[in-house]
Amino acid sequence: MKEKIGFIGLGIMGSGMASNLLKAGFDVCVWNRTAARMSPLIDAGAQAGTSPADVATKSDIVITCVSDTPDVEQVILGEHGIIHGAKPGTLVIDCSTISPQASIDIAQKLHEKGVFMLDAPISGGSEGAANGTLSIMVGGDATQFQRAMPVFEAVGKTITHVGEQGAGQKVKIVNQILVVGVMQAISEALLFAQAGELDLQKTLDAVSGGAAGSWMLSNRAPQVIQRDWTPGFTIDLQQKDLRIALQAADQLGVPIPATSLIFNLYRSLQQQGLGAEGNHALVKALENLSGITIGK
Ligand code: NAP
Repeated sequence: MKEKIGFIGLGIMGSGMASNLLKAGFDVCVWNRTAARMSPLIDAGAQAGTSPADVATKSDIVITCVSDTPDVEQVILGEHGIIHGAKPGTLVIDCSTISPQASIDIAQKLHEKGVFMLDAPISGGSEGAANGTLSIMVGGDATQFQRAMPVFEAVGKTITHVGEQGAGQKVKIVNQILVVGVMQAISEALLFAQAGELDLQKTLDAVSGGAAGSWMLSNRAPQVIQRDWTPGFTIDLQQKDLRIALQAADQLGVPIPATSLIFNLYRSLQQQGLGAEGNHALVKALENLSGITIGK
């Protein structure tokens, strides 16, 4: 029999993931801080919880996908948090991107109550969440990883057990260093293409299948040339991830100079009030520096 699933956090990523769990035949109980966001899931067959603790009482496995470290602490350890409803043996899977050390600390508090936890941050954007093709990087106990496999397979495609508790979050930092570096390269490349009076679509067609091809190039560069700043992943959340990356790199003594430069370019966009735009709007920071506008 399938385990009962609880799902906390129905944002851009969580709503697609919860929907795919329902499609895979799981019983799903959902909760979202802004209650209106639960309606599409309830229409699709989910049960509504009244708090994270309430969801936990009704679930064998509870998934969290909320914004930042304090938010995960709140929904798991806070006043009406999962820890107050979970039975011993419950598994909490945190798919949010948060500080690796905080993730380890939260897991420790859950373990003291006999509750298991996996850190399982995700990658693949809103498209990956909607299509069930996420990459999932999982840290924690191998037996719990095996237990969670049917859940992971309902929402993701590339599922990797990368090590002990917190290792998933560390791999996610690796992922974010790569993502923003590629987005910076795309921004510079499109700026050059614009200044060189190239046809931007033909340029993308020419290079996307070659050695420079990437998910960001295929999915976000077309948005840039159409000047569509709809977020798959907002600048504000991207900055949260880069803050986590810079802090973790500082603790390890690792220089990540390009990543810190990109953090400051995104910061300039936040100061202009653009934090709710997609992370591909990084290109606007270079447009501001150069006076060149892409796609015009
Ligand atoms: P989002 O659309 O902004 O949704 C955030 C969700 O977290 C909402 O459901 C929000 O509730 C909830 N939330 C935030 N703070 C909360 C709190 N203190 N208590 C209870 N609920 C809270 O974000 P998202 O894009 O889905 O991202 C969610 C997580 O996945 C983040 O850690 C992000 O870094 C990570 N992620 C995102 C992407 C992406 O491409 N979008 C890719 C990989 C990983 P409300 O509806 O009430 O605001």
